[in-house]
Amino acid sequence: MKLARRVEQLPPYLFARISELIATKRAAGVDVISLGIGDPDIPTPPHLIEVLQRAAEKPANHRYPESDGLPELRQAIARWYAKRHGVTLDPNREIVPLIGSKEGIGHLPLCLIDPGDVALMTDPGYPVYEIGTMFAGGESVKLPLREEDGWLPRLDDIPVEVARRAKVLWLNYPNNPTGAVADRAFFAHAVAWAREHDVLIAHDLAYADVVYDGYEPSSILEVDGAKDVAIEFNSLSKAFNMTGWRVGMAVGNATVINALTRVKTNLDSGIPQAIQEMAIAALDDPRDAIAQHNAIYTRRRDRVVAVLRELGLRLDPPKASLYVWARLPAAERSSAEFAARLIDATGVVVTPGVSYGPSGEGYIRISLTVPDDRLEEALRRLSAFARGETVL
Ligand SMILES: *Cc1c(COP(=O)(O)O)cnc(C)c1O
Repeated sequence: MKLARRVEQLPPYLFARISELIATKRAAGVDVISLGIGDPDIPTPPHLIEVLQRAAEKPANHRYPESDGLPELRQAIARWYAKRHGVTLDPNREIVPLIGSKEGIGHLPLCLIDPGDVALMTDPGYPVYEIGTMFAGGESVKLPLREEDGWLPRLDDIPVEVARRAKVLWLNYPNNPTGAVADRAFFAHAVAWAREHDVLIAHDLAYADVVYDGYEPSSILEVDGAKDVAIEFNSLSKAFNMTGWRVGMAVGNATVINALTRVKTNLDSGIPQAIQEMAIAALDDPRDAIAQHNAIYTRRRDRVVAVLRELGLRLDPPKASLYVWARLPAAERSSAEFAARLIDATGVVVTPGVSYGPSGEGYIRISLTVPDDRLEEALRRLSAFARGETVL
């Protein structure tokens, strides 16, 4: 069977070597603890599961949903954006619910990219921007991020020839994997740049509600006129521990939202309707779920930061996101080597920064979505390793 080039071009599994090491360790009886996966361990709030259970019993929810979502869900999203960000959205023209934001991120290039067009994205970054671009026949151009810039791209360094071919600029703040945040001034600059070069900004706000110490991330749509040149992806996954239920949204520029809705109409039939009812309940009645989750992550963050410092890693505690991103000591040249050595000595898995792009080399990412007792055990081992003790 000869598969299409777009499938053959999919990058090999990034952690192939690490997966092998994990398998070897497990086979040898080691209790491996992964701090690699960004998937909330805490269950979905019970009041939302109750809404879903009741919704599942309604025959109306047993049929095809509409691709563009229940009007009630689009209205709930509009209320959420008004309340959280002071952004006004037209539920009929500027909002489309998604089967998880990853679905929309993967499909957006089909709306914008013709073969040969350029998509700009950051390095390191979330891999789906690049894969979606490749599926659409486009070319990805990476903007290197640097610690001294606070992991924000230097938009003014983008060559004019590249900007001319670019159709979309992907941004993601609070950022995965670096945990970096962007303020409204950065977004205002990005919007001005996009206007000048006629490029759409696709901002991924997946971590809007995973925040520490009272930090409040901005929506790019808070910038005046942003809707002319931007859309934003958002998700209930990380805020409400709902990764398993698949609810996200794209909001903003009406022309692009319409194009994305039309692409989706031809590919999927939307979010199962009972889950849409659960999503409405989450947005309209979040109770204190978000604050409770953030209190747990804050405790974990502080513990992780302390132990990573014992290991000689340098870092700024994140203001948002589910990740601690830490710089290896200068003597460590390879993040993959470091991660492999850590697994071998301690059975603890961290993600090498280079997995997210070459500019991530020299860093590791630790996810905070590990149950407290497992995290404590992992940190106990890392701490012992830092003191030069034999752990396993
Ligand atoms: C988790 C994540 C998403 C995807 O979330 P969904 O579950 O598909 O809504 C999107 N972008 C980034 C950067 C993420 O880390």
